[in-house]
Amino acid sequence: MTIKTLELRSDTFTKPTPAMLEAMFQAKVGDDVFEEDPTVKALEQQAAQLFGYEAGLFCTSGTMTNQIALNVHLRQGDEVICDKLSHIYLYEGGGIAANTGASVNLLEGDRGRISASQIREAIQPDNVHHPVSRLVSLENTVNKGGGCYYQLAAIQQIKEVCVAHQMGLHLDGARIFNALVETQESPKLYGELFDSISVCLSKGLGTPVGSVLLGSHHFIAQARRVRKRWGGGWRQAGYLAAAGIYALNNHVERLKDDHSKARAIGNLMAQRPEVAEVLPVDTNIVIFSLKNDILAKDYVQKLSTVGIMAAPFGKHQVRFVTHLDFTENDLDAFEQQLKCVT
Ligand SMILES: *Cc1c(COP(=O)(O)O)cnc(C)c1O
Repeated sequence: MTIKTLELRSDTFTKPTPAMLEAMFQAKVGDDVFEEDPTVKALEQQAAQLFGYEAGLFCTSGTMTNQIALNVHLRQGDEVICDKLSHIYLYEGGGIAANTGASVNLLEGDRGRISASQIREAIQPDNVHHPVSRLVSLENTVNKGGGCYYQLAAIQQIKEVCVAHQMGLHLDGARIFNALVETQESPKLYGELFDSISVCLSKGLGTPVGSVLLGSHHFIAQARRVRKRWGGGWRQAGYLAAAGIYALNNHVERLKDDHSKARAIGNLMAQRPEVAEVLPVDTNIVIFSLKNDILAKDYVQKLSTVGIMAAPFGKHQVRFVTHLDFTENDLDAFEQQLKCVT
């Protein structure tokens, strides 16, 4: 049997398809710091309109769009209320403190999803001792929660709490399209509820680089200033924006294929004797835990010897993520190669 390398560490490993590359080569570009790159503007407008926002800002990464959003929403000494599994808290280099001087109020939700009542309980009293609870940040889908997503009604209840307490509501929508293809909800419903959304183009949508931040004209104007201050102003970024436009037009509906492959992988892992539990597979992420104190790093090493590339995701937890470069044939190869793990 020939062993094929199966890249399942993340959906960020995708390479542009030939058609996406062609779109990039054909892009009309200009200097985006002067707001003269037509392709960047087209991407920002298309993404904003899709969600019903006034404006968008194309940035290098989801970390940058999230961190810029937090910086615009929060002042020093304020706090953001979020789940303790949130990417903004766990995986952005301590940016809430380092970039903005803000605090976090961490809640323990259901696989990373927090509820309106938890948030209401957590809001600080209006008293000089406390940080000001100024923002709630949700993640959808939740990476660390195994790709689970919110019910719209739950977000609507959260929005009511935010309105009642004059708090902003931000969405880390790195994988929002993975949620939307499952729920079949309109992106516009999300645009109505959130003051800002960060959307990754380089995850399941398969572009080489980039995220967009969405919000009102006023919000995005402030965000553009922060992006420049942080060195994120870029010039002929239209070559990258063209990939984003191509992805929005061609790579959204196909996310369902990634989800069905992830479910197949989840079912295979559930039958393995060394696997204790597989989290429900709701979208393109499979997280499982190991029995008998097997360490994730040792198991990931073992998988790599049969060509299966996985990410350690906690001491005894491992993550797979499916994506557009993981084909039906790769799924067959996965099943065969997994049998070689002893
Ligand atoms: C990947 C990811 C981001 C952004 O990551 P970058 O690597 O900076 O683009 C933000 N939030 C979540 C939930 C993610 O999975």
